[in-house]
Amino acid sequence: MIPYGRQHISQQDINAVLQVLQSDFLTQGPAVPAFEHALAGLTGAKDVVAVNSATSALHIACLALGVGPQSRVWTSPISFVASANCALYCGAVVDFVDVELQSGNMDMAALARKLEAAAMCNELPDLVIPVHLAGYSCDMQQLQQLAQSYGFKVIEDASHAVGAEYSGKPVGCCTFSDITVFSFHPVKIITTAEGGAALTNQPPLAEAMRRLRSHGITRDPALMQDAPDGPWYYQQLELGFNYRMTELQGALGLSQSRQLTAFVSKRRELAKRYNRMLAESPLVLPPVEALERSAWHLYIVQLQQPEKRLEVFNALRAAGIGVNVHYIPIHTQPYYQQLGFSAGDFPQAEQFYRGIISLPLYPDLTEAQQNYICEQLVQLL
Ligand SMILES: *Cc1c(COP(=O)(O)O)cnc(C)c1O
Repeated sequence: MIPYGRQHISQQDINAVLQVLQSDFLTQGPAVPAFEHALAGLTGAKDVVAVNSATSALHIACLALGVGPQSRVWTSPISFVASANCALYCGAVVDFVDVELQSGNMDMAALARKLEAAAMCNELPDLVIPVHLAGYSCDMQQLQQLAQSYGFKVIEDASHAVGAEYSGKPVGCCTFSDITVFSFHPVKIITTAEGGAALTNQPPLAEAMRRLRSHGITRDPALMQDAPDGPWYYQQLELGFNYRMTELQGALGLSQSRQLTAFVSKRRELAKRYNRMLAESPLVLPPVEALERSAWHLYIVQLQQPEKRLEVFNALRAAGIGVNVHYIPIHTQPYYQQLGFSAGDFPQAEQFYRGIISLPLYPDLTEAQQNYICEQLVQLL
């Protein structure tokens, strides 16, 4: 089976992990800070806090921004459930903003309308979490303007968009948001097996997230409420977690980050090739504007006849092609239905979902495999 996504692990990556295994530190050593430093260099973000998953990064990012039981958090229904769950972990109320039909990204016009309505009944969100679907950035300039007008915070869920660009800048630079979150799950752009990071240009947020990742504990006497008893002393200042990344993961991440440019250019090449080969087909293809900017985590096509999706999907799987669907709208999940959402709440997201299929895309996908995928797909349409 050709998978829909797959990591690329080089000998360099293997050596980096082996070296850590033979070193003094398996956790809390120099490798994680080195990886954080590399990510800061690649994105231009001032501070990077690496953690054990993007889900954890989203959680502590919400907490650092003060999200709590009275808060309202809005995100995109076309995402992995973690984009919304992070707000529920904090006891906040979650709502969604409908998406654009072609890209599947949060629709800024829908956001503007929803904000206007929310302002009338005093129910403005405290935080909005846009999701850069497939690695293609949302319209962050527009979002930043709305954030300034209505006074909400912004976390970019850039789990798909490590290595992407927006407005001539690397995604992760945090010019248009308070915090940006990356995922390093193996199907994403670079991997640490499990892992994630929160990036920010605001030192107090970085400090809060560093503490939350490690039990809410500080060893800095300046932050303690009274003088330390001795050199062993630490103080727990708030309720934190163990969300730390291991040194094995940090070393793998650092080694992977050196290949980021190569990975993204290979993904772009393959995406352009899909675009060319499927140009004549009756499929709706990803926006052409994404070609040079997206990190191309996913290549999502849309069938014009959604009633054929299941049949096409099954036939591709039977032909050894590991297609997938990203995503089932979050608000249609049973857990979210219990919270009061129903099918029909976000019609564009539901329409997008009905027609989509994610085709295999990863750096080691060969042109021969890609030709085979396109032939099989076109034949079925
Ligand atoms: C993968 C993903 C996450 C969660 O990432 P983990 O590192 O697996 O926790 C969150 N949001 C989006 C959009 C994702 O694709």
